[in-house]
Amino acid sequence: MSRSRIVIVGAGFAGYQAARTLSRRFRGAAEIVLVNPHDYFLYLPLLPEVAAGVLEPRRVSVSLAGTLPRVRLVLGEVSEVDLERRQLRYRDPEGRDGELRYDRLLLTVGSVNKLLPIPGVAEHAHGFRGMPEALYLRDHVTRQIAMAATTDDPAESAARCTFVVVGAGYTGTEVAAHGALFTDALAKQHSRPGGTLGDGAKDGGLRGDRRPKWMLLDIAPRVLPELDQRLSKTAHRVLARRGVDVRTETSVKEATADGVLLDDGEFVRTHSLIWCVGVRPDPLVEQMGLPTERGRLVVDEYLRVPGQPDVLACGDAAAVPDLTREGEFTPMTAQHAVRQGKVAAHNLAASYGYGAARPYKHHDLGFTVDLGGLQGAANPLHVPLSGPFANAVTRGYHLAAMPGNRVRVLADWMLDAVLPRQAVQLGLVRSWSVPLESSSPEVARLPEGA
Ligand SMILES: Cc1cc2nc3c(=O)[nH]c(=O)nc-3n(C[C@H](O)[C@H](O)[C@H](O)COP(=O)(O)OP(=O)(O)OC[C@H]3O[C@@H](n4cnc5c(N)ncnc54)[C@H](O)[C@@H]3O)c2cc1C
Repeated sequence: MSRSRIVIVGAGFAGYQAARTLSRRFRGAAEIVLVNPHDYFLYLPLLPEVAAGVLEPRRVSVSLAGTLPRVRLVLGEVSEVDLERRQLRYRDPEGRDGELRYDRLLLTVGSVNKLLPIPGVAEHAHGFRGMPEALYLRDHVTRQIAMAATTDDPAESAARCTFVVVGAGYTGTEVAAHGALFTDALAKQHSRPGGTLGDGAKDGGLRGDRRPKWMLLDIAPRVLPELDQRLSKTAHRVLARRGVDVRTETSVKEATADGVLLDDGEFVRTHSLIWCVGVRPDPLVEQMGLPTERGRLVVDEYLRVPGQPDVLACGDAAAVPDLTREGEFTPMTAQHAVRQGKVAAHNLAASYGYGAARPYKHHDLGFTVDLGGLQGAANPLHVPLSGPFANAVTRGYHLAAMPGNRVRVLADWMLDAVLPRQAVQLGLVRSWSVPLESSSPEVARLPEGA
């Protein structure tokens, strides 16, 4: 008789944790299969540091095969779930279709970039939800500064030195905070004594008084609107000190190839529009035809999908009742996803008679925001911290939370503290391969017909 098979779709915070917990619990009693488009767990909170050239991309990519030895990895993206036949269809990275039977299913497919119906945004903005977008942004920013330093046209130089981030949640705030430090470092490397742009100076380079400019926009009245007000104040102060132009209660009316039109009528010339307005659940959820709540799959407090006794879901993709806040659902954060993954694993084990099922209940433990340099904003256990101490707590937290690669991350941080940033762009991820509107921001899009 074949072993029972538990299939986990998605190897992010929730799926990875569930696979790890189950593989320890069952020790071979059931087959644990993890389906994911790529062979690594992506530690998303450190992605802004990849885009800013602090960390190399593989540092935040933890090998699934290397850290989950008792789990079978299937590389692929699930396109269909047949709940009647208990079968999945998936497409592997080489475009071949496959099928996979399951006895129990855990869906942890996470989320994708959220779009707003604003003209030109889908064509001219890039999101920040996966590794390809981070690699694209690092190259793009590096290229803008290099090209600003070589053009003879001062207006073009100014546009290339302007970076607009929309959305001042933790992703947008970290991208702008790290980005400003990154472009200052790049500009320094491109500056030449007496070098001027647009006035025919022979030695070229970025003009000494042309500091790259970052703008951070949000319709909310403060940065980090979803977090404690004290964190907002700290982040705002650090951003302002770095010259980031924070515009609250401001949004984009239209995006064009030359820049963005703000809703107050100002037109900002730029080649860089970074879209961090939030996320929506992975489109696979919608395709399943099951009840959803704001796009997230409805589950009960045991993370079970009502009416589907063999299916559980958690993380960003699931609307998990928040037992600490009556009538609300848990927010889309790694903090919840990891803990839900663990509970889902326990409840799957319980469905085989190992222990008893338990409800998901977790009190918010606070948040950490890495602002780059020696700055941070954090409120562990709701104690507000700022400055270098917050930065140390934030980095310590990330190291502790990462399931692997800790020494490599630490080594990159130490190297960054003493060496200049590398001003090179490899150009391997092109603009067209990371469209804002994508059901799979975790993989770069291939050319048509490939
Ligand atoms: C830049 C950034 C910074 C963040 N910083 C923080 C932070 O500091 N603290 C915090 O608490 N939260 C943070 N978050 C939010 C946090 O990362 C998410 O809430 C968390 O990743 C959700 O975990 P998940 O397991 O639901 O999804 P994910 O971690 O996104 O994992 C989903 C997995 O499913 C895979 N997948 C998707 N579709 C399919 C499919 N059809 N078939 C197979 N596999 C599929 C994906 O490739 C991925 O591996 C950040 C998010 C971003 C983007």
